[in-house]
Amino acid sequence: MPGAPFAFAEKAERTSRHRITRVSKRTTTRNGTARPIRLLGDPVLRTECDPVRTFDTALEKLVDDMFVTMYEQDGAGVAANQVGSGLRLFVYDCEDDRGRRHVGHAVNPVLVAADGELLVESEGCLSLPGMRFETPRHAHAVVEGVDAKNRPVRVEGTGYFARCLQHECGHLDGKVYIDVLSGEVRREAMRAIRDLQRP
Ligand SMILES: [Zn+2]
Repeated sequence: MPGAPFAFAEKAERTSRHRITRVSKRTTTRNGTARPIRLLGDPVLRTECDPVRTFDTALEKLVDDMFVTMYEQDGAGVAANQVGSGLRLFVYDCEDDRGRRHVGHAVNPVLVAADGELLVESEGCLSLPGMRFETPRHAHAVVEGVDAKNRPVRVEGTGYFARCLQHECGHLDGKVYIDVLSGEVRREAMRAIRDLQRP
């Protein structure tokens, strides 16, 4: 993929089509503390997140912690339930198909559009470490929500960033990317997960 996994592995192979040239380590300095990433099998990843109703310093701290966690893990995005929170928000630092870097967060995001060509490309997730599968995603996506101060935000993405937005919105509905796989790729993913979870 272009790029790091939504937690995608940073060293991921690049494709000529959607080359992602990573900005030398995320230069954004954040005050925050990395939190452990919850792995597949943890029920929090299968639980639909609750809308944020209180916009306070605890929420801002959560956003900071999620950024620090994402950078520590070399991810391109992190959803709140991946760090054990049941709230509806995600953070991202991700490039689109034109190499433009997008950095931000979205609280109570709604995927208002996912359209355009269906691109089947390598995707991974910090909650399923070491795995990547060819995953279909729309080439264009729009998310609307608010920021941590309850100000409206609208985020539009193409290419890998559109993939990231679709991936993170899925997390908040209690889904993971392998849920959108089908056919042989899905069977391969299921086998890999069984092997991973085997004692
Ligand atoms: Zn993920």
